[in-house]
Amino acid sequence: SRLVSGLTKTRNNIISGIDNIFKGFSSIDEDFYEELEEILIMADLGINTTTAIIENLQEKVKEQKIKEPSQCKQLLIESIKEQMSVDETAYDFENQKSIILLIGVNGVGKTTSVGKLAGQLKDSGKKVMVAAADTFRAAAIEQLTEWANRANVEIIAQSEGSDPAAVIYDAVTAAKARNTDVLLCDTAGRLHNKKNLMEELRKISRVIDREYPDAHKETLVVLDGTTGQNALAQAKQFSEVADINGIILTKLDGTAKGGIAIAIQSELGIPVKYIGIGEKIDDLQKFNADEFVNALFT
Ligand code: GDP
Repeated sequence: SRLVSGLTKTRNNIISGIDNIFKGFSSIDEDFYEELEEILIMADLGINTTTAIIENLQEKVKEQKIKEPSQCKQLLIESIKEQMSVDETAYDFENQKSIILLIGVNGVGKTTSVGKLAGQLKDSGKKVMVAAADTFRAAAIEQLTEWANRANVEIIAQSEGSDPAAVIYDAVTAAKARNTDVLLCDTAGRLHNKKNLMEELRKISRVIDREYPDAHKETLVVLDGTTGQNALAQAKQFSEVADINGIILTKLDGTAKGGIAIAIQSELGIPVKYIGIGEKIDDLQKFNADEFVNALFT
């Protein structure tokens, strides 16, 4: 499938090692667990998540009196899925008037993700609008204009350096007046100045709540999957300054560290809603933990 091929690098990183363990070891001993641990950490699941998964696996092995390493693989997959469980991942913006803010540091793939989502929602029959509220980076406005033209959706933009909250005001009032289904807002994320970021996000929230209180509002954090554990750290920082409804994890096609999706969902309990596995519109896919784990481990 497209998912499996998009995850080739991480898959290659995991598969051969995992199969070696399950076939190569003759008993389930300490060495076995140590090698398994190493593989999971190499795939960027991180220490905490890896430890939790292995403890869970050890319990299952004990309970079910498993003796053969080859019988462990299915149990490992189950342990990982259990570790990733979050409340059901909702896509509420698909069935009500919605405003979605994408936040994240520069270069993670915010503008691209807004463009891809706009294209997909438009194709599914929605009336879509995008707002270029990343006024910090000149290229972001041009880039988003290109995506909007390609997707044939309306864009609200001002000039570089203008107040993001003013762009949001224009966009929200336009979306309301035109009965738009989904307004997607590209923003600038300057995480090095948390206080500023927090104030900016509050200002934007206030504008939305005042101008369009009936709209469903979501904030999604965009993270670059190629940065591995760093992405997890960023997610934590953003969750300290804003209420986060979900995560978009990009560029998983370009990394062997795709296990970070498992770590993020398991450690933060915030659902990964989409993953990016390429540069085309359809390369932004809804994330499903079971499918993801199956794609990586089988
Ligand atoms: P922003 O600064 O957060 O708005 O980041 P951009 O949207 O400009 O993206 C930065 C770069 O990452 C661009 O070259 C995108 O084409 C690329 N990119 C974004 N998402 C993906 C993805 O899922 N896979 C790949 N391979 N590249 C991506």
